[in-house]
Amino acid sequence: MVEKTGYVLLDEQDELKSFREAFYTGGPSIYLDGNSLGLLSKRAEQSLLESLQDWREHGIDGWTEGTHPWFTMSEQLGERLASLIGAKKEEVIVTGSTTVNLHQLVATFFSPDEKRTKILADDLTFPSDIYALQSQLALRGLSPQQHLVQVKSRDGRLLAEEDLIAAMKDDVALILLPSVLYRSGQLLDMKRLTKEAHDRNIIIGFDLCHSIGAVPHELSEWDVDFAFWCNYKYLNGGPGSTAGLYVNERHTKRTPGLTGWFGSNKEKQFDMNHVFEGADTAGAFQIGTPHILSTAPLIGSLSLFEEAGMKRIREKSLQLTRYMMDEIERELKAFQFAIGNPLEDERRGGHVCLLHAEAARICKSLKEFGVIPDFRAPDVIRLAPIALYTSFTEVHEAIQILKKIMTDKHYEKFSNVREVIA
Ligand SMILES: *Cc1c(COP(=O)(O)O)cnc(C)c1O
Repeated sequence: MVEKTGYVLLDEQDELKSFREAFYTGGPSIYLDGNSLGLLSKRAEQSLLESLQDWREHGIDGWTEGTHPWFTMSEQLGERLASLIGAKKEEVIVTGSTTVNLHQLVATFFSPDEKRTKILADDLTFPSDIYALQSQLALRGLSPQQHLVQVKSRDGRLLAEEDLIAAMKDDVALILLPSVLYRSGQLLDMKRLTKEAHDRNIIIGFDLCHSIGAVPHELSEWDVDFAFWCNYKYLNGGPGSTAGLYVNERHTKRTPGLTGWFGSNKEKQFDMNHVFEGADTAGAFQIGTPHILSTAPLIGSLSLFEEAGMKRIREKSLQLTRYMMDEIERELKAFQFAIGNPLEDERRGGHVCLLHAEAARICKSLKEFGVIPDFRAPDVIRLAPIALYTSFTEVHEAIQILKKIMTDKHYEKFSNVREVIA
């Protein structure tokens, strides 16, 4: 008889276990990369197919007719997303891509004057964010070398909030930080950082790519100025899925840095006037025609999040990563691994950051055995057990497979360099 301990019991007690059936979980493989691209759910597939059907049956009239009228889809999804991140419904819109939304928001919120000319960011953030900030500075005639301040990490993995706060000097006009660091999985204290920024009259925004759908947020309560994210990671909106942005209601009347006709007051949009009259909601920050077929999967996907609730999702996610770290500790002692993410619940996001000098080829070896991790150079193996579709049994099995690969030195048959897509 199998003794009911550990993973068997954890799976039995899992309140969210029935959600797994809502997903295509990829046959025999153990998918631990939902923080790069979430899996397809049957509901996301259905809402996408319904939108295709709306096109087939209604042609141009699909804008206002059919199962999911296109003209208001971005606003309706913004409203539903708002409840996931503690925002008001007027403050959120589904639009654009992560990087485009960042450009839009910095173009809108970065108002350098004689005294404040700098943008504050960090040394560990995702490269696209840095490229966008550099080009936004250059567009204002400011040299990125002088005006982009990147706070350094003390250990190359984590950021100290004290260091970020110490860098909030009176020449800083705008701060952009990640909610969760994409490599180490560190969750920053957004509430504290926002308060410290506002005490110094600095605008602050966050990149939520690695927290939305994994971690609850209270953007309105924390009074964050702006935020943006992609919907294809934890929110399972599909490859290249339309992204999202949040603008605090204090700011929704600002003129967008990049205006376009889909930012118009919807009543006036088809007046075709040459004077821009923006919506008085986050919708004003849309630019052009929404990417309906890249947006539609979210209609189905979000219903799963609404049913599960962010509180339960976060609880299970923490339990999964805790269990994974315990298994790593127990089973992999002999193999020079280290845990790179913060250990405390309130400081870690949705993935485990496992460090090893041979990380690139360990990942290749894991894939050959049906475990899907991802690799971030030079030494990070990211393992993301996802609350809605990963079981504790899978976490257990993944670590057993990793142990076997290390024991048999199976990884040595690969070279220790990354693939084009890592
Ligand atoms: C995934 C990710 C992006 C991706 O930006 P795209 O415009 O969707 O390619 C940007 N920033 C962070 C922090 C990310 O994790």
